[in-house]
Amino acid sequence: MLRVTLFVATALLASTTVAFAADANRMKRDAWSWIDSQTQVLETANLNIWSYAEIGLAESKSSKELQDLLVANGFSIETGVAGMPTAFVATYGNSGPVIGILAEFDALPGVSQAASPIETIGPNPEAGHACGHSVFGVGSTGAALAIKELIAADSFDGIIKLYGTPAEETGIGKVYMLRAGYFKDDDVILNWHPSDRNRASYGNTKAIVNVKFKFRGSAAHASAMPWSGRSALDGVELMSVGVNYMREHIKPDARVHYVITKGGGQPNVVPPEAEVWYYIRADTFEDVVSYYEWISDIARAAATMSRTELEEIEVQSEIHEMITVRALTEQTHKNLTAIGAPKWEKHELAFARTTQLEFQDPFGRPIGDDDTPALSMMIQPLPDEPTPARASTDVGDISWFVPVGGLGVASYGYGLPTHSWPVVAATGTTIGTKALVTAAKTIAATAIDLYTDPNLMARVKADWRKSRGDAPFRTVIPEGQPAPLAVR
Ligand SMILES: [Zn+2]
Repeated sequence: MLRVTLFVATALLASTTVAFAADANRMKRDAWSWIDSQTQVLETANLNIWSYAEIGLAESKSSKELQDLLVANGFSIETGVAGMPTAFVATYGNSGPVIGILAEFDALPGVSQAASPIETIGPNPEAGHACGHSVFGVGSTGAALAIKELIAADSFDGIIKLYGTPAEETGIGKVYMLRAGYFKDDDVILNWHPSDRNRASYGNTKAIVNVKFKFRGSAAHASAMPWSGRSALDGVELMSVGVNYMREHIKPDARVHYVITKGGGQPNVVPPEAEVWYYIRADTFEDVVSYYEWISDIARAAATMSRTELEEIEVQSEIHEMITVRALTEQTHKNLTAIGAPKWEKHELAFARTTQLEFQDPFGRPIGDDDTPALSMMIQPLPDEPTPARASTDVGDISWFVPVGGLGVASYGYGLPTHSWPVVAATGTTIGTKALVTAAKTIAATAIDLYTDPNLMARVKADWRKSRGDAPFRTVIPEGQPAPLAVR
């Protein structure tokens, strides 16, 4: 009798799972055709944000572009969150699993480019979307809107949140939103990033401390009475000499880079004020903190040598390494494979090929050869182990509190480096549109799986717990410090 009951129960469970899957497949098809029907709207939003090319914490028009789209589709909006005017949270739905989708929209200073395959100044001469965050923001918003359609049609119970996260390039937006308590109560967070290829994210990212060192000296006539002055710039330069000697003794995964943000007014005045801005990176936050402490000691020593004062060590932000979630990666990979890589037309391939030929590496060689695709047309196989970390993202911080899944979609010429003009060029054309549509469809599909399949949700959470472990989440940002109001 018990065996019969068990058999019936198992059969019922199996048939329910089949029904779930059939329903989910129907919902995915609905979501994909809805996203296709919105291509024009999404393209316009991208081209607007792409043209504004606003840098971190100054993305007022870009943020509003996405907010307007969400409000017009019935989302409620909370703006100016965590003390940042351009950060927002858009929500739809009343009950059920909570899935958050991340939208970025900040541009990079100094990489202006038109939607041309030849290097040309673009609509904003000061900045450009060299990390592709205009398509990032719009693709994520497209996914959230598609999920909203399904919730509104009572396809499932669920809450969808679209997070407008500013200033990713300085690792500020998500970090301060997290400190203000956002993200932590969601079940899963999804996102994507423009790339030169199509793949589910399964990679490590580097941790960072983003910190400014401020030196104070005293002004004097640099020729008449230099002995009366103390140069704050000397402090900065001696510090950097010290750091450049330190380099030999840090691990190969570490990266230290800096720009001098204040170096004095003009040569005949001994600079009374100077400031240097550092990103200190490594594969683990633990290592980054050790290097940060070492570099702080070097700064203090440089102040002693130059008889200046180290006025302030200002930790602007920090980023933690990514916690990967295998089950979420596998589900994203399945969905991306079902959707397929964007289908490129001849003129798009020709555009990307020209950018590869025009963009030369430091040895004057073009990117790739005749065997290099102009634009990726395949889905990368899933690696067994996470790929090694090269860059950083503040998405990493969220992954310490909530399972995070994502993908990369080909949005510019294969093999081209991010933060370069060809990325700006391609994301301002239909190449960008196709990439953001593919991303929106994949994120929507994975969200549908998570809303409708409790077993998948449980597996994702279990995988995350295993990857996360129980290491404490350390921070070097002072308790209660508000988000910066400007990047520099
Ligand atoms: Zn980016």
